[in-house]
This record gives sequence, C-alpha cells and structure tokens, in this order.
Amino acid sequence: MTGIDPPAGPILVIAPHPDDETLGCGGLICLAMRGGQRLHTVFVTDGGASHRNSFLWDRTKLAACREAEAAEALRRLGAGKSGRSFLRLPDADMPARGSAHYGRAKSAVVAILRDLQPRLVVLPWRRDPHRDHRDAWSLGMDCLLAAGTSADILEYAIWLDELGSRADHPQGLEVERVSLDISEVQHAKKDALKAHRSQLGELITDDPAAFVLSKHTIDRLTGPEEIYWRPCASV
Ligand SMILES: [Zn+2]
Repeated sequence: MTGIDPPAGPILVIAPHPDDETLGCGGLICLAMRGGQRLHTVFVTDGGASHRNSFLWDRTKLAACREAEAAEALRRLGAGKSGRSFLRLPDADMPARGSAHYGRAKSAVVAILRDLQPRLVVLPWRRDPHRDHRDAWSLGMDCLLAAGTSADILEYAIWLDELGSRADHPQGLEVERVSLDISEVQHAKKDALKAHRSQLGELITDDPAAFVLSKHTIDRLTGPEEIYWRPCASV
C-alpha cells in the first residue's frame, strides 16, 4: 500500500452526511489546515433521517442540530473558518439525477468548484453500501465533469468493510489503495467525532431504534491512518 503526503490545496471534501467528513477524512482535513491549505466542505444531505421515530426531534430540528454538530466538528479539526456548504438534500431520499432538485444541487457544487479550483477532491467511495454515499459520489463526479475540473481524487469508504458485498469492493485496477498517516492529529479527529452527539446516542433518547455509531465503527475509522482509494484511470 502506498503512503501519501498530506495534500496540497485547495481541497474540496464531499460528505454525504454530517459526520462523514470526520469519519472519512477528518485526519486529512486537520493536516491540510495545519499546512495552511484552503478547504471547502460540501454536506450533501441534511442528515435528518437518523431518528425517524423521535417525537422531540423532528426532521427539521434534527437537520439543524446536525449542521451545528458539523460546524463544531470542523472547528475541532482546525477548519472552523473554512468554507462549507449544506446542500440539504433529503437524507436517505436524494433526488433523482435529472430532476430539478438535483439540478439545483449540481449547480451549487459546480459554482463552488469554479470558485475553489481544487487540486484535490475527496469523495465517498463510489460503491459504498449506503445509497446516499453512492449518490453523493455520482453527484460529485457529475459536477467535476460539468465544471471541467481535473483535480486529483481520493475516495473514502465508510460502510464498505462492514456492509459491502464482494461486488462493492474495488475491482481489478480501477483504484489504488493509499494510506495517510494521521497519527499526529488522531486525537483531534476523535475529539471532532464527539461533536456529532446526535449520532452517538447521547442527545436523542426517545427513539431507541434509531441509528447509533457503534464502537466498532468508530474504532475502525479513527485509527492512526486513513485509507483512501485513488482512481487509476482518468474519468
Ligand atoms: Zn454517511
């Protein structure tokens, strides 16, 4: 496996949900900020579907909470003043490609790309078992093509190792597995994850069946290195 250096900016991070920015690439973000790089994070969905049965936290309230948690996580990663955009697409129900809603989101990301001119775009893994992650990858790739952006790409897998089928895993030579040593900022990544209280079972207690990040998932994704998949062929 190839080790990579902390990336040079500008960097665009695409997170399907608030918390993926930390779980997937919190170490990369932190190292980039320490290196003085320019960063912008796009949160694709509103994250409002994680507690569907809560009476106290309806979708609107939860989505607002998750935006605040994401802002605090970025702050803890040293990216408190970095750019961020919340597209607020519906969690677990992203609009179909070609729909007006999708088109508005695409236009927003294309405008960000044209302004930021990123050297690196960090996307979710293209075949992550979670549909929102796959859809966020598709949206990101659509936007890169539309904006004419020829940035380097890294993809981070969140649910592949736990839930992926054999077909979800990298095939042949489509991508190369690379690692980023984040040991010097690992503590900041773990601290940033704690900002996502709604996903840790600490904040919303009236929906016992709701999603909670497990210790296993957290331990798996907050180690001293981050694993990325780097496309081998141009897209
Ligand atoms: Zn996610």
